Amino acid sequence: MDYKDLANAIFPNTKEIEYYKEKYPKRDLPEGAIVTRFAPSPTGFVHIGGLYQATIARKLAEQTKGVFFLRIEDTDQKREVENGIVGIIEALKDFNVIPDEGMTDEEHEIGEYGPYKQSLRKEIYHSFAKDLIEKGMAYPCFCKQEQLDEMREKQEAAKIRTGYYGVWAKCRHIPVNEAIERIKAGEEYILRLKSPGNPEKKIKHKDLIKGNIDIPENDQDIVIIKSDGLPTYHFAHAVDDYLMGTTHVIRGDEWISSVPLHLQLFQVLGVKAPKYAHIAPIMKEEDGAKRKLSKRKDPEAAVSYYAEVGIPHEAVSEYLLNIANSNFEQWRKQNPEADISEFEVQINKMSVSGALFDMVKLQDISKRVISRYTAEQVYEETMKWASKYDLELKEMLEKDTKFSLKVLGIERGNVKPRRDIAKWSDVKDNIIYMYDEKYFGKKQNYEFQKINDKEEIKEIIQKYIDKYYNENDDKETWFEKIKDLANEYGYAREVKEYKQSPDNYKGHVGDISTLIRICLTSRSNTPDMYEIMKVLGKESVIKRLNEAIK
Ligand code: GLU
Repeated sequence: MDYKDLANAIFPNTKEIEYYKEKYPKRDLPEGAIVTRFAPSPTGFVHIGGLYQATIARKLAEQTKGVFFLRIEDTDQKREVENGIVGIIEALKDFNVIPDEGMTDEEHEIGEYGPYKQSLRKEIYHSFAKDLIEKGMAYPCFCKQEQLDEMREKQEAAKIRTGYYGVWAKCRHIPVNEAIERIKAGEEYILRLKSPGNPEKKIKHKDLIKGNIDIPENDQDIVIIKSDGLPTYHFAHAVDDYLMGTTHVIRGDEWISSVPLHLQLFQVLGVKAPKYAHIAPIMKEEDGAKRKLSKRKDPEAAVSYYAEVGIPHEAVSEYLLNIANSNFEQWRKQNPEADISEFEVQINKMSVSGALFDMVKLQDISKRVISRYTAEQVYEETMKWASKYDLELKEMLEKDTKFSLKVLGIERGNVKPRRDIAKWSDVKDNIIYMYDEKYFGKKQNYEFQKINDKEEIKEIIQKYIDKYYNENDDKETWFEKIKDLANEYGYAREVKEYKQSPDNYKGHVGDISTLIRICLTSRSNTPDMYEIMKVLGKESVIKRLNEAIK
């Protein structure tokens, strides 16, 4: 009895690996094309770090005329949730990370290198596992959980490396005859790799991001096929990336310590290993220390969070490119109008350690992105968001669409558009004062500034209403009149004049316009006041000013 008999006893009916090698031929792609993938478990949850990796992978494939595919790694069926696959596909779609191949919903897929869901590839893994058994590179292990626990305790007590390796790898030495008998007798088993590694030796790994790393060889006889017949991640990824023609594995750096094992798996499979690029995670600062963004503690770790608060997808994507390559910012400055698809990601420019997640920066980017939207786009996107998360806002906006478009159009579409909206959930607070039905009947809290004497305020505003305000004035005339008003009450017409001789004035025209602004909106900070007055219309303007001096 030899290894072949053992292999046949375990897998009597599998196809030869040659069959698969022929079925999935080498891809016909231009030189230098990157074939890469996003390979999540279908837990339904997409971490921002996962989206980050997928974004980079998508771009690299695109830039090199390669292929980016989505592979669902569902070999740990305990972790699966209903509709977990669709959740991932939708999330990617939202951020315009569209795979060329892979699952398109829970059941369907596109591409010639599938199935792209690991649980449907069982037979393939079995063929490759069988091949390893035949070569004496894998073996059945009959150890029970209690035995493994016991072994671990002994190792811990003796303060040595834990795991199934060397002298601890008991089942490695079971004679083939005995193994076959035990299998025939129905004893439960799993399959392990017979690791050829020697931990005294180091492998040299050249990571595309982390650079050259020396790590001890793997000598653990890791599980390749579990008792449910499904492979472990390690084994499955090697078989899949080989058959699917992956040239670059782009993944989180929590996997870097598995590199020796993974390279070894490719070696025993007798195939070329892909290149690896291990991306540093997105970090968060807490109590002065850096830690990974956590699914449990940080709402912003979930990509769904951005839709919930209403940050446009483009802004998130742009932010991710921003942390990916430090030259992005300069590129953006040079190409303010360009779509992010034009930016070329360079893998060797990615940072070795994790960038801190910077919400302020993200919101800045988002403000810029939104500032370029037309009023119609802002209206539409805000309505989409509000229909889900803020019905009051939805109602307010749609009651008079034309008016809402005017409100949202204030300081928009010009060279220096307003930049005060970072997310759709900001819109309400940003514009609510423009709506008479929300404004009147509520006690306004006027926080007067330089001019805060009640009598003076009354006089100035009354004068403005009676003498200066005319809804038909053009902007220049309108402002001239505010200067005249300032002058009439002892305020300088120009800030400059005031600065030259502050003793001659009570203040300057800015104090007067701030006063009008506050009386008009009960805010000291708003977009362009001339435009606001135009949009509000005469009736509302007068009513507001009167209300303020009441
Ligand atoms: N399923 C693995 C994960 O979700 C994939 C890692 C890889 O890309 O190889 O972390």
